[in-house]
Amino acid sequence: MQDVAPQVYPWQQALWQNLTSRFPNIGHGLLFYGKTGSGKEAFAKQFVAWVLCQARQPQAACGQCSSCQWLAANTHPNYVYVSTDEENKKQNAQIKIEKIRDLLPFVQQTGEGWRVIVIQPAEALNQASSNALLKTLEEPGEQVLIILLAQHYLKLPATIRSRLQHFALDRINSDQAQDYLKQHLPQAGQSQYDLLMNLANQMPIQALELAGNEWLGRRAEFVHDWLKLVSQKNMPLQMANKWNKTLVFADFLMMFEYLLADLTAYKLGQNIKNIDLDFSALAQHYHLEYLFQLYSDLQQAKLLLKQNVQSQLLVDQLCIKLMHV
Ligand SMILES: [Zn+2]
Repeated sequence: MQDVAPQVYPWQQALWQNLTSRFPNIGHGLLFYGKTGSGKEAFAKQFVAWVLCQARQPQAACGQCSSCQWLAANTHPNYVYVSTDEENKKQNAQIKIEKIRDLLPFVQQTGEGWRVIVIQPAEALNQASSNALLKTLEEPGEQVLIILLAQHYLKLPATIRSRLQHFALDRINSDQAQDYLKQHLPQAGQSQYDLLMNLANQMPIQALELAGNEWLGRRAEFVHDWLKLVSQKNMPLQMANKWNKTLVFADFLMMFEYLLADLTAYKLGQNIKNIDLDFSALAQHYHLEYLFQLYSDLQQAKLLLKQNVQSQLLVDQLCIKLMHV
């Protein structure tokens, strides 16, 4: 699983109580779902450790028994993590049927203690591997727990969903989110909290990550340069040159994607995320279709970056496109 520390965030506390008090009567298959930044991996890790632990405490695994030590050393014989292939992390990577079939002996074996499988991202299960998993869920051995992690509930096949108990980990009320941010960013003000939460789709962990990004404080300056470029229609390469030096390319792309999405939202009359910025002047220069085109160019640029195309070139092209309207 993702390299995060196991923990139960305040907004997951009720679910923790629910699951641990009902245990072992929780069924064989669980689905934990929630948007990026909801802390679902941290919760799943804490829960897996608790289930496997030989001396469970109310709030966590003991951290000392052999099971806890095996988990920490990544050598637990009763724990299997299934994901997409390492070398195949690109978009639309799938969890192949072989990986699910390979689980069968593990699920059917009998022995001491609980056995736990985590499958993530569950959206990566294709038709064939979903069917194989269904078979597994139909006849699990005793003391077997299969946990699926997903971003979106509805992206999973209905047949799978119906076999799992599902729990949303991203139902976070604004007080909980606010408290979390205040605790970790005590120096920030209310408007900063509001901005971060908007950019992070109301997910506090994501908001905290964004707060540390260099581009966050550069957005207004970029919008200013962008507006100047499109109204004066000259020197796109000068602008490209400046931003190539100002931000690393991945940060630049992330910032630009946020701004482009907001410019599009503004044109469509929808809510924007960069609530501290004004898109009205920029919006006058662009047709909606052109913005959609820019968005697909941006996705292309992201792919090219992975193929080691020079980022300087990509920013040059982008700035030229921004100017030609
Ligand atoms: Zn333990």
